[in-house]
Amino acid sequence: MSARLIPASTKLTQPYWDATRRGELVIQFCQACSQSTFPPRAHCPDCGSSKLQWRQVSGKGTIYSYTIAHRPPHPVFADQCPMAIAVVELEEGPRMMSNIVDVELENVTVGMAVQVAFESIDDSDVMLPVFSPVKTN
Ligand SMILES: [Zn+2]
Repeated sequence: MSARLIPASTKLTQPYWDATRRGELVIQFCQACSQSTFPPRAHCPDCGSSKLQWRQVSGKGTIYSYTIAHRPPHPVFADQCPMAIAVVELEEGPRMMSNIVDVELENVTVGMAVQVAFESIDDSDVMLPVFSPVKTN
């Protein structure tokens, strides 16, 4: 089994990775115009303000687009394929790329309601956000 890639945090992304360790998904909100944004940025993409504040979001969203990767995009993913790679549109607006887990891959659909979960990566203390279908009862 290959070692997985572990995201490196930067000064900009540290609050995001700190939150995932607490089991929380956070994104930035502009304090000048209220726009939500992801991935992490130094300035609001709408108004240019640098007054961005991290806030926890619901972790709920829908699948905007997806693909099933049969060939690993990098050798370290070999033992995870086939896997669902998706763009998830969060309830709060921004879209994020992630994996869809805990579902038969043939059942993944655009528009599917999903909920964030957090996966540890090997022996690191990094928790990676992934999404699984919302259970309907
Ligand atoms: Zn703004």
